[in-house]
Amino acid sequence: MRVAVWMVGAWLAVDAVSATAAEQDLAAVEIRTTPLTERIYLLVTDPPTAGNLAVSAGEDGIMLVDDTMMPITPRVKAAIAEIQEGEVAFVINTHFHFDHAGGNAAFGEEATIVAHSTVRKRLMEGREWGVVFIEGERPAAALPVLTFDESVTFHWNGETVDVIHFPDPSHTDGDLVVFFRDSNVVHTGDQYINRNGFPFIDLDVGGTAQGLRDNMAKLLEIIDDETTIIPGHGPLASKADLQWFHDVVAETIAYVEGEKRAGKTVEQIQEAGLPEAYEEVGSGFIPEAAWIQAVYTSLDM
Ligand SMILES: [Zn+2]
Repeated sequence: MRVAVWMVGAWLAVDAVSATAAEQDLAAVEIRTTPLTERIYLLVTDPPTAGNLAVSAGEDGIMLVDDTMMPITPRVKAAIAEIQEGEVAFVINTHFHFDHAGGNAAFGEEATIVAHSTVRKRLMEGREWGVVFIEGERPAAALPVLTFDESVTFHWNGETVDVIHFPDPSHTDGDLVVFFRDSNVVHTGDQYINRNGFPFIDLDVGGTAQGLRDNMAKLLEIIDDETTIIPGHGPLASKADLQWFHDVVAETIAYVEGEKRAGKTVEQIQEAGLPEAYEEVGSGFIPEAAWIQAVYTSLDM
């Protein structure tokens, strides 16, 4: 499967053909903490390996958004303990992928894991992402215990926290964004990545490019110029950054759709490439050819 090959290339640290090297890479990963407000913290893996994390810490306790991968979780726990002592009360999974929900088993005994209903389903199927499966079964502690199909609101550490599932299948079939309303900080999961390259669409679980476009348009409607955006991967972003990303996604979908309607095959569109204006998007995360393939396939879904 072509996308799978590209994905392995995109995440060097988890290259499936080199498990030993991957474990060594993970052993060297450090967690960097950045306070964003008096109660919200950004945690990132250095070098960039897993998805970004958010922590809400305060009088009600600790809430964690995403939890990296099992080998990294002792360092995540140590970083959280530096912020505030005590157990993690809630873990929210933005989606099921291994680099976001892969650490669930390390937190499931102490925390209530919260996710979209499809995340539990995908984890029970043994998926890491797409059609890539783990060996053996996940422990029960890795499974979300509180699931829902739409959205849910927490009242936690003195603020409203909206956990929103926009309705369209997008990066996966169960993506959430976590909007700390009073702090004006939103964690987008992988529906938005702030890296060079295009977004990944997990077609194997029903993700679609146009769904990602429409969901990010909805997110743009509810945030403002002061909102701090924690993308699934990459540095912090602003509304203007997300708008640019949305526009690139929307315009390139429209381009591929037009070419497809004109009777072009996916290979012909890949060969010709996107218009020159999109060269600046780069190819670090998902290269242009993989994005064209994802869009072309999505248009039939
Ligand atoms: Zn993902």
